[in-house]
Amino acid sequence: MSATIISGTEIARAIRDELNAQVAQLAEDGRVPGLATVLVGENPASRLYVGMKNRAAAEAGIHSRQITLPDTTTEDELLALIDELNRDPAIHGILVQLPLPRRIDDAKVLLAIDPDKDVDGFHPVNVGRLATGDPDVLAPCTPRGIIEMLLRSGADPSGKHVVVVGRSNIVGKPMALLLLRKAPGGNATVTVAHSRTADLGAVARTADILVVAVGWPGTITREMVKPGAVVIDVGTNRVDDPTRERGYRVVGDVEFDEVREVASAITPVPGGVGPMTIAMLLANTVEAAVRRGRG
Ligand code: NDP
Repeated sequence: MSATIISGTEIARAIRDELNAQVAQLAEDGRVPGLATVLVGENPASRLYVGMKNRAAAEAGIHSRQITLPDTTTEDELLALIDELNRDPAIHGILVQLPLPRRIDDAKVLLAIDPDKDVDGFHPVNVGRLATGDPDVLAPCTPRGIIEMLLRSGADPSGKHVVVVGRSNIVGKPMALLLLRKAPGGNATVTVAHSRTADLGAVARTADILVVAVGWPGTITREMVKPGAVVIDVGTNRVDDPTRERGYRVVGDVEFDEVREVASAITPVPGGVGPMTIAMLLANTVEAAVRRGRG
């Protein structure tokens, strides 16, 4: 068997086309969704991510405000900016790019964002809404994107056993909570594995759907996958590759070439989960704007 490739690039494109139409409709009613991104310091990777997010927002017709602050910005200055954005009626989504400089407390900053503008879904109020199944949640973008990928590729998790490998607050835990919801895209039986799991292979092999978010290449090999399983690879790892001009290539956590021989469907890296994350940031921003309009 050779697995079907679930293209995140194509699914994200389709979602972004739908969002373009929705944003155009909102704009006709004079309601343009607004996204503010805040970058502190000069981290090149963060600068790249923020740039991609702003370009994607602008392409969707979302009003985007990119705020870049110097590395010397104090916690109080950043909190004052968030307070201003919380009160700005043209801004429906606020994203503070992490990591922040060491002397600024990430948790304090995330806590200052209005939960209804928290398009990253990291505020404890949104974590609580997710845990309690509140439909008003703004869910974290990566796991939300994975649910969309599963649904749109015909792998509805309802009634399936899903094993999530990884328990981070950004991917693993919210992934498990979304899969558990009594709602479309949920209703799965969920197992969460992590670095202390005794026999990862034995646990992973019980999965109808295997979601892997570890950050280590080669974590999942062929014999760890049940024949016919759907495999979602969240990992984004740089490995040296002297044959490439830039000296490296990006791979996931799954041994793609061997696992595709046993899985029924698999996401590639790159071109899998990554593009979905940005599409879901836009979706969360539009959703936040629609809700504000209703309120
Ligand atoms: P974290 O480092 O925060 O979490 C990694 C998790 O993997 C931890 O729970 C850890 O367990 C677990 N783990 C580590 N080693 C093993 C092992 N040998 N067996 C089983 N579990 C293990 O990473 P993130 O969740 O933030 O990210 C995971 C990967 O996904 C990274 O490669 C990241 O770059 C990528 N990513 C990709 C995104 C995208 O849009 N494509 C978005 C976000 C992340 P423990 O808790 O016990 O330490």
